[in-house]
Amino acid sequence: MNSDVRGNRSGAPGQVKEITSLANPVIKDIRSLALKKFRDEQNAFIAEGLKLVIDALDLGWTIRTLVFAKSALGHPLVEKVAARSVAAGALVLEVSEKVLTAVTRKDNPQIVLGVFEQKTTALRDVRIGSGDVWVALDRIRDPGNLGTVIRTVDAVGAKGVMLVGDCVDPFALETVRATMGSVFAVPLVKTSSDAFVQWRKGFNGMLAGTHLKGAVDYRSVSYAGKPLVLLMGNESQGLPEPLAALCDTLVRIPQAGRADSLNLAVATGVMLYEARRDALSLTVDG
Ligand code: SAM
Repeated sequence: MNSDVRGNRSGAPGQVKEITSLANPVIKDIRSLALKKFRDEQNAFIAEGLKLVIDALDLGWTIRTLVFAKSALGHPLVEKVAARSVAAGALVLEVSEKVLTAVTRKDNPQIVLGVFEQKTTALRDVRIGSGDVWVALDRIRDPGNLGTVIRTVDAVGAKGVMLVGDCVDPFALETVRATMGSVFAVPLVKTSSDAFVQWRKGFNGMLAGTHLKGAVDYRSVSYAGKPLVLLMGNESQGLPEPLAALCDTLVRIPQAGRADSLNLAVATGVMLYEARRDALSLTVDG
């Protein structure tokens, strides 16, 4: 380990500490981040894996604590990330496998995890330009669905995700896992349904709702060249009437088999690829 990183082992921020006990208060605090209550209290969340931690640092997210397994000592990228974390004023913890397993609640955990400050965008700060696409999710409940939507929004070059009403926490461990790092690249807005209704009044672009009773084939709408928000309904209840009534169009994705509906994240993916059809190609970026 680089001497800058190893230099001081007192445990103060910007320094390195070795921990083997689950009873250590710092470890207890990190473990508590499995619960939303404590994530909110600490305004923090956990991201697992070297790639995610590097992505987050590259994108300017604030790291509070870097945790790495003893077995990662000597790994050049881990050393580098530890040095960056120390330079950023974070606490760096070298821990036993047992501690890492307990923190992530997973056998064979990643060798590195970071505790980051939560960051969201205020609805009033959202600016949607011509050709920009945002996704608004009404009361999304499933962390895997939310993570998959955030990842897909990132992949197609859409601009952000609005979480409308009582949604699953985007900073839950399972959501962050499912984003594969895109949680750090995609602006997230949390809003109440009422605030979204108000915001919509001042939004001059297209609000396209997806609905199982939609009369319009999603492929027949021209989405390109205008500010666009795709509004997706809750997994079990779909879009409620007051939100459906706000939409410029209610589109449906045709289905042929016995399934009642598509999975929310799959439907969002289908819509995003249609909306971004003209913007994406294999030869030109973005
Ligand atoms: N039982 C719910 C209902 O009646 O709407 C099913 C909701 S579906 C699992 C979740 C969301 O995915 C829907 O609200 C809609 O936004 C989108 N969705 C799923 N299948 C769709 C389809 N065939 N056409 C349009 N949207 C669809």
